[in-house]
Order: sequence, then structure tokens, then C-alpha cells
Amino acid sequence: MLQKPKILLIYTGGTIGMITDPATGSLKAMDFREIEKLIPETRRLNAELDTYSFKTPIDSSNADPQFWIELVSVIEKNYIKYDGFVILHGTDTMSYTGSALSFMIGNLGKPIILTGAQLPLGTIRTDGKENIITAIEIAAAQRKDGKPRVPEVAVYFENKLFRANRTHKYNAEYFDAFESPNYPPIAEAGIKINFNDKFIINREISGIPSFYKKIDKNIIILKIFPGLGQDYLEKILSIENLKGVVLETFGTGNAPTYDWFIQGLKNAIDRGIVIYNVSQCNAGSVHQGHYETSRLLKDIGVANGYDITTEAAVTKMMYLLSKGLSQNELIYFLEQNIAGELTHS
Ligand code: ASP
Repeated sequence: MLQKPKILLIYTGGTIGMITDPATGSLKAMDFREIEKLIPETRRLNAELDTYSFKTPIDSSNADPQFWIELVSVIEKNYIKYDGFVILHGTDTMSYTGSALSFMIGNLGKPIILTGAQLPLGTIRTDGKENIITAIEIAAAQRKDGKPRVPEVAVYFENKLFRANRTHKYNAEYFDAFESPNYPPIAEAGIKINFNDKFIINREISGIPSFYKKIDKNIIILKIFPGLGQDYLEKILSIENLKGVVLETFGTGNAPTYDWFIQGLKNAIDRGIVIYNVSQCNAGSVHQGHYETSRLLKDIGVANGYDITTEAAVTKMMYLLSKGLSQNELIYFLEQNIAGELTHS
């Protein structure tokens, strides 16, 4: 008999594994052994399942770079032993964690599928059960040649599988909480799971993966808005040790043309800070130079984020900054597609 694919189910926390604390009425994490009892169906899947639980499960609002590093280490330690990984994670910052993993694990040859739930597993209408079961099936899916079908970091939620670094949590209440506005789903689950093979990363799955465990947190997101003051800009750009700014601009990458604004950004760039132009719009791409209001940004050396999400921009910048690259190298890599996170347009 053919061997079943071996999958490691990693529990980090999130609503999926929470229970109401009778004392406070708030949701808090429950023990992973309790969770396993709630989904006995997983034993009937065509996968051999082992589980790993973080010692202290977290609400994903508390996820931080140290947590990403721990997750990378767990996957590294278990990489050879398993054919795929399913990570149970809170939805709030799932897109950040998924993006971070996509940069920190190089030459990935196995599926890493993040999933979670909007309603805890213990509730009658939970969406968690279907999410876990299908995420495991996807992690275990193999091509005809026996290689994994989805050698990517992906998010599975409410019948859709997305490339993780293209996702964004857009709805706090609906079951379909995630969207990937600039990249199609890489699989959709109905009666069958339909894989959208031409959009799945098609890398030669033979190289040795790399597990990177450094992150530089010295960045901020600066969302511009009509009325943004000079004082505010100057204070933000003079934060001690600031190395990078994800600049959330209007439309196709546009920003005010006031002298103090452009000069303020230019002074920061001259001091070695890297500025990354990302659109506030959910869909579409930055086109620096399309309007006068973005040409000036291009002229002073702002890096073009094209159609990258803020979540991917933040984690990509933290990852690249930790590598000790020169400012020109940083700008070069920020503008390149390194893990399927952006499309040049
Ligand atoms: N606050 C929760 C978390 O992100 C929400 C969820 O899991 O859906 O951990």
C-alpha cells in the first residue's frame, strides 16, 4: 500500500482554538488536546497527521517577528520528516505571518498552509472544521510524479487557497475573511479541490531550502491623508534608528507635491532610510511617474512597490533590512519579485 503523506499540524493560537472564559466572557486559547477531540474526522483523511503546539497559544494580534522566527525554526526542525505543514493561526495577522514565512524560507519545496476560523471549533456553526480538513488535504495533495502540488506558503480560508503574500484580511465578520485582489486563487474547493496549476509557483523541487532567522523591525507604515502635517511627517521620519518606511499612497502611488513633503522624504532618503511606495487601494498597482504626484517620488529615489500588499511590503522590508544590504541594493530587491509577492506592470 502507498504511504500516506505525512503532515505536521502546527497550532499557534487564534479564534479557531479559543473558548469563552466564563469569568470574563472573552475568548481565550484552549489546550490543543481539546481541539483534536473536536475534529476526529482528521483521522480518516488520506494523511498521516502529527501535531505540534506552541507552548503558549497566542491571539495573533500578539504575533511578532520573534514568533515568525520560532515558526521558521519549527518548520526547519521538521522539514525532512514531513511532506507538508498546516499552521493554525489567528486571522488578524495571518497575512503578515504568511508573507514573512514566504520571504524567510527560501527554495521551499513543500506546502505550508495557514488556516484558522472566524468562529471557534467548539461552536456549532464553526468554519474551522472545514478549513482545517481541506487545508490538510491541500497540504497532502501530490502531483502525478509524487511531488507536492502546492510548494508554497498559502492561506486556505472559506473554500479558497491564496498565495499568502498576496492576501489581506478584509472582513472582520464574514467567513470569507481574506482576499487576494491582485492574484487569483491558486485552488478552489467545491465537491473537488480544483488546483489552478498555472498560478502555483513552479519551482524545481530539488534544491535545499534555506531557513532565515533574522528580522529588522526598524520600520514604520506611513499612511498619507489629506491634511497630513509637516510636523507630523518630520517627527516620524526622525524616529531614532528608523531604516524603512512603507509609504501608503493614494491610487496609483500618488502623494502631495508640497515642497516640505517631498523635501522631507528626500532628506530621509539622503540619511539612508528606504521608502517603499505601496497603494492604499486594495487592488491595482503603483505606477510611479504616471502622474506628476508620483513622478516626484520616483525622482527622489522612492522604491516602487507595484501591486504588493502592505502586509507583504512590511515583512519584505523587515527581511531585507536584516541582511545588511546597501541602500541601492535594498531598493533593487524591494522592486523585484522575490517570493511571488508582486507583479511588475
Ligand atoms: N483575534 C483572533 C486572532 O487573530 C481573530 C481570529 O483568529 O480570527 O488571533
